[in-house]
Amino acid sequence: MILIDGKKAAAELRAELKEEVAELKSKHNKVPGLTVILIGDLTPSQIYVRNKEKSAKEVGLKSEVIKYPDSVEEKTVLEKIQELNSDETVSGILVQLPLPKHIDKQKVIEAINPSKDVDGFHPMNVGNLSSGYESSVPCTPLGCYLLIKKIEPNLSGKKAVVVGRSNLNGKPMTQLLLKENCTVTITHSKTKDLKAECLEADIIVAAVGIPELVRGDWVKKNAIVIDVGINKTDNGIVGDVHFDEVSENAKALTPVPGGVGPMTIACLLKNTIDCFKRSQI
Ligand code: NAP
Repeated sequence: MILIDGKKAAAELRAELKEEVAELKSKHNKVPGLTVILIGDLTPSQIYVRNKEKSAKEVGLKSEVIKYPDSVEEKTVLEKIQELNSDETVSGILVQLPLPKHIDKQKVIEAINPSKDVDGFHPMNVGNLSSGYESSVPCTPLGCYLLIKKIEPNLSGKKAVVVGRSNLNGKPMTQLLLKENCTVTITHSKTKDLKAECLEADIIVAAVGIPELVRGDWVKKNAIVIDVGINKTDNGIVGDVHFDEVSENAKALTPVPGGVGPMTIACLLKNTIDCFKRSQI
């Protein structure tokens, strides 16, 4: 079985992006800029943002973090987004989720200019992705897609099952696989026989949030299995896939941690650079 090394793939992608940023700098005399807005003092969000900033600097992007306390008014955040929308040095804007309850997440997402929406959550980007047009794609499914393509460059005609239908993961993942001419089944908590659906799949992407939901006898021989899940358990962090059982059948499998996770940040950098390139046309 191929153990899909997300850390290595992410390092390779960052190295490519670093070269690209250097080329863009010599061509345009400026570099792409990423601005992250962080509200409140949730520890996981702070860690994510610190990692994003570190990786952005590593590839040569201009990186800025704007911090607000939990009590910040929605209006202040929306005004800041407007300011960033018209700032030419800012190629990408990301508002770290989750937000405090008094701030309307959808309003914030829709305030970001779609051409700077590096998370790919703006309805315009969601629509463009599902219509097959150029768009920013949410970072985690984009990372999964790149890992799958490394294992199997030609996905045409493959049967794919996506477990989970969130806007963050399952739905955009489905669109990316459809674009590659896979036959895609998207499953969720009301799916009648998830095991039977998974057994049909050449490719399974699990993004559910239930520890080790996908078992060894749900996976057909030589399937590619991508585990998006990050679940804290008494035995440490595990994915949505039972790693030991599934590794008996799968052709390739991502570990948790060290699989999809590292690709997410690398894809955020890629999205920032792509937004910059589109803005220079
Ligand atoms: P989410 O918004 O909670 O969505 C979970 C999806 O799973 C829903 O569509 C839900 O169905 C479905 N589901 C729940 N129980 C199910 C069951 N028994 N059988 C089949 N489907 C079921 O979760 P998410 O944001 O997509 O995150 C999923 C996992 O990925 C979490 O563990 C999260 O921590 C992890 N994650 C990892 C990364 C990374 O970088 N690696 C990034 C983001 C998230 P309904 O729609 O019917 O409720």
